[in-house]
Amino acid sequence: MIQDLPPDILAAFKAQAAAEHPREACALVVELPNSSYAFRSCRNIAEDPLGTFTLDPVDWDRFEDEGPVVAVLHSHPSTPAKASAHDRVICAEGGIPWFILGQGGELVRLDPSEVSGLDKLKTGIFKRPLMESFR
Ligand SMILES: [Zn+2]
Repeated sequence: MIQDLPPDILAAFKAQAAAEHPREACALVVELPNSSYAFRSCRNIAEDPLGTFTLDPVDWDRFEDEGPVVAVLHSHPSTPAKASAHDRVICAEGGIPWFILGQGGELVRLDPSEVSGLDKLKTGIFKRPLMESFR
């Protein structure tokens, strides 16, 4: 699994995030057949792009044709690079690392194996079964 973003990819994502500010920016890292990593900026199609992101699935499909997607990048334009419970759950479901660029330019890596059941509880995904088990 990818551990660090290559400097050129980080620079490209910082430029994208600055251009899309105050909207959240999102992008992918694709592993090309020659084993190099490529940066691919994507569209954020969320209804509330100031506070969340939804990576356009058309972009994902298109870039995945070049090679496996090895990381998901997104920015937090007005908050630190701390993964939200929602970020953590979606990261775990995807099974690949995420990198979050915070408002101060700091970068945090989120590994899907770090995600706990508590995160799922916070997002409400487990809410109904839990309530039923308390009856
Ligand atoms: Zn986030």
